[in-house]
Amino acid sequence: MRLVVDLNRCQGYAQCAFLAPDVFAMHGDESLLYNPEAAAEQRENVVRAVAACPVGAILLELTDEDMADVVSQGAGAGAGSGGTR
Ligand code: SF4
Repeated sequence: MRLVVDLNRCQGYAQCAFLAPDVFAMHGDESLLYNPEAAAEQRENVVRAVAACPVGAILLELTDEDMADVVSQGAGAGAGSGGTR
């Protein structure tokens, strides 16, 4: 998972730091620090932070590994394999 925050757009609302404190942190009143290569375990928190950012400043890029995780989790909850159409 890769993250980019558009710091020109970021207004320092700190929603992201509240929802994903292991990835985002406020430094002083307005400057934001973040880990652009957040660990996969943080994905859910990061997705919440992306959704909560009032100015849409956080861009999230899922890697193939993330997608494989998402698919395998989905398959586990699904009907399983097999069958014809
Ligand atoms: S929630 Fe958005 S605007 Fe607020 S600090 Fe995070 S990136 Fe910046």
